[in-house]
Amino acid sequence: MALKFDSSGWLIPGTHDGIQVNTDYRTEKGYKSGYSAIVGGKPVGMVWHWANAPKGDGRSENLRKYMLQEVVNPAREASWHFFIDRYGKLYQHAPLTLPTWHVGNYGEMFVPFKIGKYAAGTYVPVGDINKASIGVEMENAGIFVSRKVKNAKGELEDVFYGWPYAAHGNLCSNTAMCNEVDALNMVRAGTLTPAAPYAVVPSRVEFSSKGVPYDKYLPEQIKTARELARALKDHFGWTDPRQIHYSHEQYVPKQKLDPGPLWMEKILPEIEIDLFGRRADGKPFIRPLTVVLGLLGVAAVAGGVIWWRKGKPLPAFIRRRLPIKS
Ligand SMILES: [Zn+2]
Repeated sequence: MALKFDSSGWLIPGTHDGIQVNTDYRTEKGYKSGYSAIVGGKPVGMVWHWANAPKGDGRSENLRKYMLQEVVNPAREASWHFFIDRYGKLYQHAPLTLPTWHVGNYGEMFVPFKIGKYAAGTYVPVGDINKASIGVEMENAGIFVSRKVKNAKGELEDVFYGWPYAAHGNLCSNTAMCNEVDALNMVRAGTLTPAAPYAVVPSRVEFSSKGVPYDKYLPEQIKTARELARALKDHFGWTDPRQIHYSHEQYVPKQKLDPGPLWMEKILPEIEIDLFGRRADGKPFIRPLTVVLGLLGVAAVAGGVIWWRKGKPLPAFIRRRLPIKS
């Protein structure tokens, strides 16, 4: 059975289509005053995030524990609606009726298409994206950095490190204000040296089309994300693939990088095609099956013509154009 919501905006717990749904870690309190309801009662779309919180050590197994501890108290303000762990388990922490603070307080936000009273291509004040969207956090360590390190045989090899790359005390005085971009810039500027505790196993590394190493999204996690997007689309009657194509980075481009190009450019367009039959960016998509059927069709027509013409002279209009008369 597909994922479904009850009348209060909560997923039905249990296992559906092989996806485990957990609603035990719940809060029903809006982030602050003014956060009691979604604008217009219906969110415009969903915003994707990767979950690498400042107190985490950058490695998702510990991060998951941290994330779940943070929402175990029902009186705590909700900061996101859904959390998808690395292996596809789905947690819902806030009902669909309640806004959460997942985009944060980073300044004006660019709106790619009309949201309430805001026209496409305009900037809206802080907070309105939070109040108009569903926030989905995915367990993922984000951008890796690589360093040549000597192995046991004394050979240099690439070692990859996840955020925050080194102990937090080195990054900034107020850890709550530290973010992945600060740390990444320090590593790239050579003022922060990645340390062994933040090294990741090489099998987690996947390179973007620009050759930057990222934490890989696993198939189970992608499946859960796809089915969650499908359930939200059906629940709210979304009709445009752009409604599932919001990223945290697009609102806060210099301070947030999530959920990265592996998600936004590679995985999400496939989900959009599956759910809407087209991509949010409008790029054409030809299904592999269409190509195969097309080639088979051409081969069948050519084969038919050859069979039909077998043993017969070429038609006169072709013979006239040939250098040698047949
Ligand atoms: Zn985010």
